[in-house]
Amino acid sequence: LEFEDMPLPRSLLMGIFEAGFEKPSPIQEQAIPAALEHRDILARAKNGTGKTAAFVIPLLARVDEGVRKGRSGIQAIVLVPTRELALQTAQVCKTLSKHMGIEVMVTTGGTTLKDDILRLGQTVHVLVGTPGRILDLAGKGIADLSGCGVFVMDEADKLLSPEFGPVMEGLLGYLPPPVEGDNKDAIGRQVMLFSATFPMIVKDFKDKHMRSPYEINL
Ligand code: AMP
Repeated sequence: LEFEDMPLPRSLLMGIFEAGFEKPSPIQEQAIPAALEHRDILARAKNGTGKTAAFVIPLLARVDEGVRKGRSGIQAIVLVPTRELALQTAQVCKTLSKHMGIEVMVTTGGTTLKDDILRLGQTVHVLVGTPGRILDLAGKGIADLSGCGVFVMDEADKLLSPEFGPVMEGLLGYLPPPVEGDNKDAIGRQVMLFSATFPMIVKDFKDKHMRSPYEINL
């Protein structure tokens, strides 16, 4: 399977090829088509497999650059355990969406809330950050997640550790519920979970919050 065979916008394909990606990696070959069908994704994958682009590509394809009626600006969030990883992941989003009109914002603890408030006064389609700060923004009504149809967890084993676990549960409460049936136009949340290891906490999260996910084991 080639990138051109996937139902991706032309503008996104340009970004992919300019990034030097010629062929999808095995995880991308599996994850992208399933994610484009709005399936939940549960992937066991290590760094270096191309896992970041495996969720960034379908996420970007799903963003509506214009803001449709009833949608808030934020249409996707990517949760990661550290600021370093948030910056790297946002950079991948920016590189691959270079020819799209998509706005990406990074938010993590250790920065002032004031800057985030200003930034969120303008359009943001994709929010990348750490769980505590994003829950804070949602809880204070600064970030509206009611139109956020894509929820990505990278390094989920760390995100679900006792430190972050309750925060993740809290965050899901601000997102739209999953859509019943097959209506691809409805705003429902899609969960994409990536993890190098699958401890019990990850299995519990899957059983509680994911809907017959497409499972990838590499
Ligand atoms: P990751 O596993 O997300 O940390 O990605 C590892 C490295 O692979 C990064 O430097 C990516 O830019 C690169 N990469 C990801 N997908 C592809 C691809 N389809 N073709 C070539 N390089 C890729």
